[in-house]
Amino acid sequence: MLELKHIKKYYHVGGTLTKAQDDVSVAFRKQEFVAILGPSGSGKTTMLNIIGGLDRYDSGDLVIKGKSTKDFKDADWDAYRNNSVGFIFQSYNLISHLSIMENVEMGMTLSGVPAAEKQKRAENALIRVGLKDHMHKQPSQLSGGQMQRVAIARAIANDPEILLADEPTGALDSQTSEEIMQLIKELSKERLVIMVTHNPDLAHKYADRVIEFADGQIKHDSNPHVESEKQDGFKLNHTKMSYWTALKLSATNIRTKKGRTFLTVFASSIGIIGIAVVLALSNGFQKQIDKTQSEAMASMPVTISQVGTDTNAMMTGTETKTFSKSSTVTAEKSAADKAQHTNKLPQSYLDYINKMPTKDARSIAVTYGTGMNLVRKVNGKYQTVSFSTSNPDSSSVDASAMMAASTGVGGSVYPVKRTSSGKTFLQTYYKLLSGSYPTKATDIVLVVDKKNTVNINALKNLGFSVKEGQKFNFNDLIGTSVQLVANDDYYTKLPTGTYLPTQDLSKAAASSNTKTLHITGIVRVKSKNSDGLLASGIAYSSALTKQVLDENKSSAIVAAQKQSTTNIMTGQQMDQATRTAIMTTLGGVSTPTSVQIYPTTFKQKDKVLAYLDKWNKGKSKADKVIYTDLAGTVSDMTGGLMDAITYVLVAFAGISLVTSMIMIAIITYTSVLERTKEIGVLKALGARKKDITRVFDAETFILGFGAGLFGIFVAWLLTFPINAVLANVTGLSGVAVLNPVHAIILVLISTILTLLGGHVPARMAAKKDAAIALRAE
Ligand code: ADP
Repeated sequence: MLELKHIKKYYHVGGTLTKAQDDVSVAFRKQEFVAILGPSGSGKTTMLNIIGGLDRYDSGDLVIKGKSTKDFKDADWDAYRNNSVGFIFQSYNLISHLSIMENVEMGMTLSGVPAAEKQKRAENALIRVGLKDHMHKQPSQLSGGQMQRVAIARAIANDPEILLADEPTGALDSQTSEEIMQLIKELSKERLVIMVTHNPDLAHKYADRVIEFADGQIKHDSNPHVESEKQDGFKLNHTKMSYWTALKLSATNIRTKKGRTFLTVFASSIGIIGIAVVLALSNGFQKQIDKTQSEAMASMPVTISQVGTDTNAMMTGTETKTFSKSSTVTAEKSAADKAQHTNKLPQSYLDYINKMPTKDARSIAVTYGTGMNLVRKVNGKYQTVSFSTSNPDSSSVDASAMMAASTGVGGSVYPVKRTSSGKTFLQTYYKLLSGSYPTKATDIVLVVDKKNTVNINALKNLGFSVKEGQKFNFNDLIGTSVQLVANDDYYTKLPTGTYLPTQDLSKAAASSNTKTLHITGIVRVKSKNSDGLLASGIAYSSALTKQVLDENKSSAIVAAQKQSTTNIMTGQQMDQATRTAIMTTLGGVSTPTSVQIYPTTFKQKDKVLAYLDKWNKGKSKADKVIYTDLAGTVSDMTGGLMDAITYVLVAFAGISLVTSMIMIAIITYTSVLERTKEIGVLKALGARKKDITRVFDAETFILGFGAGLFGIFVAWLLTFPINAVLANVTGLSGVAVLNPVHAIILVLISTILTLLGGHVPARMAAKKDAAIALRAE
C-alpha cells in the first residue's frame, strides 16, 4: 500500500546537522494499525508528515500504491492529502471560528462536494465518532475528548485510505485516552492507521504492529511487511476552493473579532471620508459657481440690436500719430458715427441662431417692434389697454389710441426655452408666487419686484382703477384676461381711404381671430443678484409677438400703408423714419428689433460668441452682424481655482488612503500570524497555496469594501453639518453634495487598495510550510 524507500531528511540549523530521517525504509499494509514508538525528537512526526505529504523528503522515494511520488507537483500533493489521507493531531487543531459541522466538512468543501452530500457525510462521520448529540455546538463548548472526536470525524469524513495520528491522546487523561484509542482501533479495521506515540502501553495494547524509532532510524519492527510488485494504482481528484467559500470562511473569521474589525474599517475609511468630503464640497462649489455665472449671464445676455456699434472700427479711427501737412479741410463723420453699424438680421440669420447648440445657450429672446391691439372688458365695457408702464395720464386723451399703436405694446418679453427638456427661463430665474408658469404663447405673467410691488401704470394701462399703495390679493390679478385683436378686426377703413381703430370694440373682441391672453402667474426674481431681468409689469413670450407678426403681416392696413406715402391713419405727410416706425408697429416689418441670447455659463458664452463670429466670416461689411457682449469684461477665473484647490485637498486625503493601505497590510500580516495553525490545518486537508491566498484576499476584500462603504456613509452624514455651517457662514445652502459616481469609484478604490495591501501578507501565508505551520504554538 505505502512504502518508504531510503528516505532522508536533514535539517541544518546553525552549525549543527539534525538527521530527522536517516535512510528510512519501511512498507505498510493496506489495512493495519501501526504504532510508531520512540523518544521525543527521534523523527516520528517528520516521518508522519512525509507520509502524509505535509513535508518533503530530501532523497529516497515514497511509493503509494506502486506509484512513485518523486515527480509529484504541488497540486498532486494537495489532492493526495485531500483524497487519501486523514490527519489527527495531539492538539486537535480545530478551526475555532467555524462550527463543528463546518470543521468536519472543510475537507469536502475544499474538494467541492455538493452541500447536501457534504452535510450527510459529515453527520455520518460525527455519528460514527459518537457525537450525535453535540453536532450543533461550537468547538469551544466541547471537552478535550469530544474535540478530539470532532478532529477524528474530520479526518475520516472524506473516507481516506490512510489515517495518520500524531500523539492523538497526548493531551487527554487516561480514561478518555482509552476511549479514543478504542475508536481509532475501530477505524483501523477499514484502512491503514499510522499512529505516533511515546506511550508503549497504549502502543502495545491497541496496535497490530509496533515500530521503534530512534535518531531518525527504525530500530525495531514487530511485524515487517514486504510490498508486492503488483499494485492497483490510484487516481487523484484535484482540490479547488471557490472564491465564495473563501469569502464565507473569512466572513466567519471576521465575525469572531468584531471590535478589531470595526476599528480597522474605521481607520481605513478615514482617507475615503476625506476624499469624499472634498469632492462633495468642490462639486457643490462648482455648482454654485455655475449658478452664479448663469445668473450673471441672465442679466447680461449677448445682445444683437438693429443698430450695433463696431468697437473694432471705433479703435482704428483714433490711431493718428502724425499731423497732416495738407492745406485743405476734409468733412468726415465722427469715429462714433462711423462705428455705427446697421444689422440686417434676415430670416436666415435667425435660423442660424436657432441652430446654436442648446448647451451653450438655453434660451433666446427675439423682440419685434410690432404693436398689439389689446382690449379688455372693464365694468361691462370694452376699452383699449396696453402692457405699457408709461404714465397713461400724461398723454392727451384723444391721442391715447394712437399712442398705444405707435409706441409698441410695452411690457417685457421673456425668452423661450429651446429644448423640450430642462427648465424655462422663468422657471430658472423667477419664483412663482401664485398661479402657474406659462405653458402657451397666450399665457402672460405679472412680474413684481422683491418687495412684491408692481409699477402702478402697468395696472392702470390694463384698465384697473388703482390708487397708489393699493394692495391686491394674488387672486384679484391671476386669471385677468385681455383680448388680442387682429389688425383686420381692429382697424376699419373710412370712406376717405384712411384707417381708424374701430368704435365697436365688443364686436372686435368677439371676432373668431381674437386671441384671449390670461395672466397665469405672478412671478418674482429668485436671486438677489439678478434683479431686473424683466421689468416690473406684464411679461409675455417672444413666441406671442411672432404669432401677432405672422397674422398682421398681410392685413389690409399693412397693405394699404405699403402703397401709401402718407400716414394711413392721419393722412399726413411723413418722413422715412416715421414711415418705418409705423410699418413696424402695424406688424408690416418682420425684422426683429433685438435678439437676446442667454449663455448658460461664462465658458459657454465664449462658444456662443465664436458661433456668432462664424456667421460673419467671409461676409461683406454690410452683411456682418455686430453683437454686444455685456458680460465681456467679467472673466472666468473661479472655475480653475476651484479645480486647483480640489487637487491639493484630494492629494492630502490620498495620503491617508495610502496610510490605511499600509495599516491593512500590517493587520493582515498579524492575522496571518494568528491563523498559522489554521493555515496548517487547511493544508493538511488539501488546500492549495492559491486557496490560502484566496482566504486572506477575501478577508482584505471584505475589510476594504466595508471601509469604502462605511467611509461613503460617514462622508454623506458629514455633508449635513458641513452644509449647516456653510449655510450659516456664507448663506449658500446645500453646497456639499456627494456625487453617486464618485461614491462608487471611491468604494472601488478602497477595495482595490486594501486588496493590494493585504495581498503580500496573503502570499506569505500561502508560502508557509505546512509542517512548520502545524508545529507552531
Ligand atoms: P518527534 O516527533 O520524534 O519528537 P520530530 O520529527 O518532531 O521528532 O523531530 C525530529 C528532529 O528534527 C528533531 O531534532 C527536531 O528538532 C528536528 N526538526 C523538526 N522540524 C525541524 C525544522 N523545521 N527545522 C529544524 N529542525 C527540525
